[in-house]
Amino acid sequence: MYKRISYEQMKKRETRRKRRVRVACALLVAAAAAGTSMALALNTLAAPENPEIEAEENRKAELKTTAETISGNLALPEAMEREPGVPVVVIDPGHGGEDEGCEKNGIQEKDINLAIAEMVRDRLEGMGYQAVLAREDDTYTAKEERVKNANAWEADIYVSIHQNTFEDESVEGIETWYDAGKGADNERLARLIHQETLKSTGAKARELRGDSELHVTRETVMPSCLVETGFLSNSEEGGKLITSEYQQKIADGIVSGIDLYFHPKTMYLTFDDGPYVENTDRVLTILKERNIKATFFLVGENVERNPDMARRIAEEGHTIGIHCYSHDYEKIYESVDSYVRDFEKAYEVIKETTGVEAKLFRFPGGSVNAYNKRVCKDIAEKMTEMGFIYYDWNASLEDAVQNPDPKQLITNARESALGRQNVVMLAHDVVYATGICLDELLDELPEYEMKALTEEVEPVHFHMD
Ligand SMILES: [Zn+2]
Ligand SMILES: [Zn+2]
Repeated sequence: MYKRISYEQMKKRETRRKRRVRVACALLVAAAAAGTSMALALNTLAAPENPEIEAEENRKAELKTTAETISGNLALPEAMEREPGVPVVVIDPGHGGEDEGCEKNGIQEKDINLAIAEMVRDRLEGMGYQAVLAREDDTYTAKEERVKNANAWEADIYVSIHQNTFEDESVEGIETWYDAGKGADNERLARLIHQETLKSTGAKARELRGDSELHVTRETVMPSCLVETGFLSNSEEGGKLITSEYQQKIADGIVSGIDLYFHPKTMYLTFDDGPYVENTDRVLTILKERNIKATFFLVGENVERNPDMARRIAEEGHTIGIHCYSHDYEKIYESVDSYVRDFEKAYEVIKETTGVEAKLFRFPGGSVNAYNKRVCKDIAEKMTEMGFIYYDWNASLEDAVQNPDPKQLITNARESALGRQNVVMLAHDVVYATGICLDELLDELPEYEMKALTEEVEPVHFHMD
């Protein structure tokens, strides 16, 4: 249950407490003026008894807050001097001033938020970013004003930092909130912040939620997210959160997420052995929805069987490469001649069917395998001489096995990528599990920009003795 309500519950409690303070203050003023007892005022501060009265007070308080916002007491900041080409990042340390956020054993959320935000700002500035804090010190700044400022500054992204509490003190970990309706970049930012803070802290992964509907994530016009970096109510996590060492880890994670957002790594998704009707269709549909281009190394026989699917690959803007005509290792690797014969047959079929004169190719089994050790060097030399470029891979879904488990394929892909700057990922569009896991796989690689191979991309080659 707590998964669904922890953050909302906290927000509600905060709001109720603030209102109680406001009502108590009003009563104190009234009591002083009228010379009546202060007991009522203090009583109100302690706890509201009558829910109906509280609801009415809440409504009044809400009207008052709205009025404050509309009345324009939030001065627009002076225009920020933008350096061309330099990203502007707004870091929002949640709460501040009389708005303390959540609290546990005298530790106030607002202080931890600010400490982490300052660390993030300092590091980002050191890396050449323009980083601005939504509040610079322990003063109250309405969330409406923070958002208004960020929009006026035309900031590129907005990251809000908060701490959590919950009744069940065993609850711990990081959760991140964003508005799913704000597009792919918005989601990518949230995923990166979530992923990288988890990585840098080793904290427990809680939810990444796209249904935040919070003012700061909804009203900011740029990509934004809100990260709850831990639970003050959990004694172990709360104990860590007050140390600058742990705060720095959180800050490092946030910075890494931000940096990867602006400077993603590159992944070349490559799909071998197709096309097939159903499974290739599933892969193409996902790629199209996400506006991702990939590379397909086609098998000539399968192109003959599924010419429409081959044409669709070309029409949808993917790179077409040659894999082979028949996927028969013993036959094609018999000699240089047999390899070239098979290759040329594939080349012609693909050209006739799709109109593509492919320049890129991939050896069945990779450039060095158990079947071609004797001839691989000669074949590679011959093919290079003929003007073709081959690509092996440096990461793989390992999906060319019997009944692969989709979850395992995602793990394989992540682990074999090893965080490299440039990844050529091997996959097979003919494998059912690959199509099934592709959406989730792409979700889990927010640090990578997906691109199709071109002749300009430096080839990845296996080592030949
Ligand atoms: Zn908060
Ligand atoms: Zn193959």
